[in-house]
Amino acid sequence: MYLATTFLIVPQLAKLSGRVALPVFKSGNLIPHNYITPILNRHYVKPPLKSQLTNIADNINAENNQLKLTYLDANFPFIDGFPLLPHLSHKDGRKVDLSLYYTKDKIEGNLKPANSGYGIFVEPTSSEQNQTNECKSKGYWYYDYSKLMTFGSRDDLEFDLENTKQLIEYILQDSVTQKVFIEPHLKRRMNLMNPKIKFQGCHSVRHDDHIHYQIK
Ligand SMILES: [Zn+2]
Repeated sequence: MYLATTFLIVPQLAKLSGRVALPVFKSGNLIPHNYITPILNRHYVKPPLKSQLTNIADNINAENNQLKLTYLDANFPFIDGFPLLPHLSHKDGRKVDLSLYYTKDKIEGNLKPANSGYGIFVEPTSSEQNQTNECKSKGYWYYDYSKLMTFGSRDDLEFDLENTKQLIEYILQDSVTQKVFIEPHLKRRMNLMNPKIKFQGCHSVRHDDHIHYQIK
């Protein structure tokens, strides 16, 4: 009953509030990291965000047919202003979280280190800015609490800088993109200068396990 409602009725109601579902299955180039996201109706966005994500996924796959674009939490299907907890800003269909890319034994692909998609970080090196220490020293103890939400993880993957940078550049190129959140050390490591890349603030959570972005 719940699944029938989720996959047959909710999408129709979501259309009335101007939101569409991201793809549920992993056959295309834009895929959910896990099926819990669509089952919980956490995969809705405004149509321009869906077409942007679809285009980016197709571009990435056209360059390397081993790669897909993996989305994490997006938004609920309706009610502007109703947040998708724990993401307070995911409340209007304009926000989405995406996975970074990783390699396994130097081979590019779509494997991710955390089952939930969150909480396994690309840590700063000793010479890079450590935003987490800065935020925690200011009292924002929950800045890295997503480490408790991995729901299982693996440690055989390496951060894939080139493909992650390419993904962010695609996002930035599009005039509909308003802002992108990643941790300052990753922004610098990837040599990304675009002013649309912002720091989300210590009141949020660290963004070196995923990319968050929003459209206008
Ligand atoms: Zn987000």
